[in-house]
Amino acid sequence: MRLIDNIFQAICSHILPSACIVCEVFQEHILCAYCATLLLAEQLSNYECCQQCGITLIAKEIGERRCLECETHPPSFDETYCLDRYEGRLQSALHQLKYQGRLACAHGLASAWNQLMTESLTSRQATYLLPVPLSQEKLCSRGFNQAWELARRIRCIRSIHKNPYILLRHHHTQHQANENRVNRYKAIQDMFYINPQYRDHLESTTVIVFDDVMTSGATLNEIARVLKENGASKVINWVLLRTLRPIQQ
Ligand SMILES: [Zn+2]
Ligand SMILES: [Zn+2]
Repeated sequence: MRLIDNIFQAICSHILPSACIVCEVFQEHILCAYCATLLLAEQLSNYECCQQCGITLIAKEIGERRCLECETHPPSFDETYCLDRYEGRLQSALHQLKYQGRLACAHGLASAWNQLMTESLTSRQATYLLPVPLSQEKLCSRGFNQAWELARRIRCIRSIHKNPYILLRHHHTQHQANENRVNRYKAIQDMFYINPQYRDHLESTTVIVFDDVMTSGATLNEIARVLKENGASKVINWVLLRTLRPIQQ
């Protein structure tokens, strides 16, 4: 399937012009050279970020390479790598993917990831690459899981198993965005579980969890907790867009 996808994409990119996912100008590539240069200059890896949660560090945290929050309340995941800030140039393409179902944007965003993330990251060894799941109900209403549509297209070494069936999610009706931090943490407990078929597969594994957006980190923290409870020894987050803390005056 992946081979057919790739052949189809290669043919299309040679015979049809593409609208760049950032500036929307029609030209040869799904991310134009000009926007790729801007993204490269602005991407989060150019900044000092917390190794554990990916947030940009303030001056007094740089020595430790960890933010104060991770120092005082270490999350269950070990490392986080994010392509760009949520408020940046890729937000519109991600919204078109998630809310308008434009799957072409998944190709564009994954291609941005593949172009801009360093070789040292994309050649990292791990056992699994798992997308943050949607509940069955949400999956039915949206028709696809955006995290999986991105994860299945991003480059990683071939021995890593990409699998959307290992980590599963219960349906949950509360609106996370409207909850305060404490309630969000409570609401998220027991939301994720491991497919019983794979329960013995996680022992001593390194797992990469892929998500399209990271905000408070509560979801990824709970996922890492569940993965480690089921035997994973290391959990690394790969995230497309990261919301950053407001600039302090
Ligand atoms: Zn462009
Ligand atoms: Zn941190």
